[in-house]
Amino acid sequence: MIEYREKLERVRERGTYRTLPHLEIDGKDVLVGGEWLLNLNSNDYLGLQAMPELAEEYLSSPECRALMSSSSSRLLTGNDRAFTELEEYLAEEYGVPSALVWNSGFDANSGIIPVLVDGETLFLADRLIHASMVEGLRLSGARFARFRHNDVAHLRSLLEKNAGSYKHIWVLVESVYSMDGDVAPLEEIAALKSDFPTMRLYVDEAHAVGLRGGGLGLSYELGILPQVDLLLGTLGKALGSAGAYSLQSSSLREVLISEAKSFIYTTALPPVIVGWTHFVLRRVRAMEPRREHLRSLLDRLGRRLGRRLESQIVSLIIPGDEQVMAAAEELRRAGFFARPIRKPTVPVGTERLRLSITAAMSEEEIDRIAEVLKRWM
Ligand code: PMP
Repeated sequence: MIEYREKLERVRERGTYRTLPHLEIDGKDVLVGGEWLLNLNSNDYLGLQAMPELAEEYLSSPECRALMSSSSSRLLTGNDRAFTELEEYLAEEYGVPSALVWNSGFDANSGIIPVLVDGETLFLADRLIHASMVEGLRLSGARFARFRHNDVAHLRSLLEKNAGSYKHIWVLVESVYSMDGDVAPLEEIAALKSDFPTMRLYVDEAHAVGLRGGGLGLSYELGILPQVDLLLGTLGKALGSAGAYSLQSSSLREVLISEAKSFIYTTALPPVIVGWTHFVLRRVRAMEPRREHLRSLLDRLGRRLGRRLESQIVSLIIPGDEQVMAAAEELRRAGFFARPIRKPTVPVGTERLRLSITAAMSEEEIDRIAEVLKRWM
């Protein structure tokens, strides 16, 4: 096999060399280097991995679709009834015209965005949108501009400048931002649509579904779904499964099925997973006590740190590679696992620990986390 040593050298020189940790997961804990640590890097925000009885119930229930592979694209023979049932359930719960399930959030964002181009189309994206949306923008070949993070005035000025020149201006945002954990001013952004009729709104709710709006996300909670033209939810985080879903008009769903490459040219998710998503989603809707527990843990951590936490994602900026690595090491010594986040995932100078607080944690664990973090604030 060909050696890629020179390229590897360049990757190292650029400082973007990455490695895979070897680990094992058990509920809220992770085994790394022979030590069991509390996992602070998991997006399992509702702590469903610590509820193995859920999977046992699914596997022995008549709802379980015990089909471990789809064996082809959904356009061939992969479209098991589990997909239709899940999509109909999603559309009905949200009260929207249609839902479409994707293999992952990355596939969805990178596959949907190029398909949205229709005549003269401009994309206006928040500075901090996820890499999968940036990939979609690149693949679209369309013109795009970035606005300052969560800056509605800047977005408005870009809309004013461009409104007359395009058939569609798609605004791309997240509801809860993946690396900073802050929340978008979604109501204000949605309200811009009344001043700019060509504006379309795309909201990635990867870090809000399961937690906000009774599990359906922030747009649902705020009652702004009628203003959202495309909503994306991921299933591998708080929803405890795998894949993603998009919500849209019925005609856009048909266009996506006909044109999105990451939908067409890939083997469908296994029905056992799609059936599990449906099963778990119905239970997540009723998990208000777990959401309440998580909110009370966040209040507690916020009080201990003297900082208002906008979401379950706690981002602690510790500039400098060595410093952020030292902080991660100190967490490890105290029994916690959090890999440092560095470039190119985040800009140089904003190296950080990105900690996820989950509903499986206890008050005592939150107090111990706060003790270590306070030393780095
Ligand atoms: N959107 C956002 C905002 C994300 O944070 C992520 C995953 N980190 C994705 C999309 C991609 O989702 P998936 O992991 O299902 O590919």
